[in-house]
Amino acid sequence: MPRPRPPFPAVKGLWGQPTIINNVETLACVPYILREKAETFASVGTEKSKGTKVFALGGKVNNVGLVEVPMGTTLRELIYDIGGGIPGGKKFKAIQTGGPSGGCLTEEYLDEPIDFDNLVQKGSMMGSGGAIVMDEDNCMVDVAKFYMEFICDESCGKCSPCRIGTKRMLEILTRITEGNGTMEDLEALEELSHTVKNNSLCALGQTAANPIDSTLKHFRDEYLAHIVDKKCPAHVCKKLMEYYIDPDTCIGCGLCSKGCPAECITRTDYIAQGHKLASFAIDPKKCVKCGACISTCRFKAISKR
Ligand code: SF4
Ligand code: SF4
Ligand code: SF4
Repeated sequence: MPRPRPPFPAVKGLWGQPTIINNVETLACVPYILREKAETFASVGTEKSKGTKVFALGGKVNNVGLVEVPMGTTLRELIYDIGGGIPGGKKFKAIQTGGPSGGCLTEEYLDEPIDFDNLVQKGSMMGSGGAIVMDEDNCMVDVAKFYMEFICDESCGKCSPCRIGTKRMLEILTRITEGNGTMEDLEALEELSHTVKNNSLCALGQTAANPIDSTLKHFRDEYLAHIVDKKCPAHVCKKLMEYYIDPDTCIGCGLCSKGCPAECITRTDYIAQGHKLASFAIDPKKCVKCGACISTCRFKAISKR
């Protein structure tokens, strides 16, 4: 018996008529072009990408928000001159352009001019104009997983490469971030990425693997650290890190213990040179890795490892 088809509604335009949908950015350019003439608009930009582009600049950058820049502006100008650089003096790691299906670009691309062709050539895209900056504290496997979760939610399910392939990729990324990944998983990721990209019906599936491809290309060592060493170098993946109190820095004030929601910071009293002292230690089996103790400790005695 044939399986019933899912109830996809017929697509209709406004008032049942053929309809063009433009985003606000496009419509915002139209009055300017009509008023100032197309040549004026086209006088800024690059050979093939004319005019300006609006980016939603976010992530690890001092000035977040919507910014309009001439096409051809470099990523460095976007991040440092307009975005004000990375907060807290942290080291830049990558910028992901184009929304959830965009690729992550590393330091070597910072002086690349931003235009439609150039971003695609470098493994990302202009897409929806997102520009998310990442610093040394971001785990790139976790980043790929984050975007794949979004893609899985957004997949309409009409074609199987995207519907099934994105789910399989998410399962693999989850395994890797939880310390259960294998080297075969890396091969499977690459194969799935290729299949989903080349066999999906629409752009969502065709670009879904960009975050995986770009992080595998530029941050393969991070994937290997998760798989082989069972470590998350950025200390982001909760199952692969633990909170630790440095006994040499801890002064035994006990504040962290009072604020721990899992009651897993234990106190041990001892006598040293005639003084009654206390030391504190975290039970990794009970710790829920909420991070509250790190912000509580004024002596920076608690860290992730
Ligand atoms: S590629 Fe497009 S059509 Fe196919 S399942 Fe994904 S969103 Fe739907
Ligand atoms: S808050 Fe810091 S200094 Fe105080 S007991 Fe905890 S780790 Fe030690
Ligand atoms: S991370 Fe949270 S649960 Fe773990 S020791 Fe610190 S406060 Fe307690």
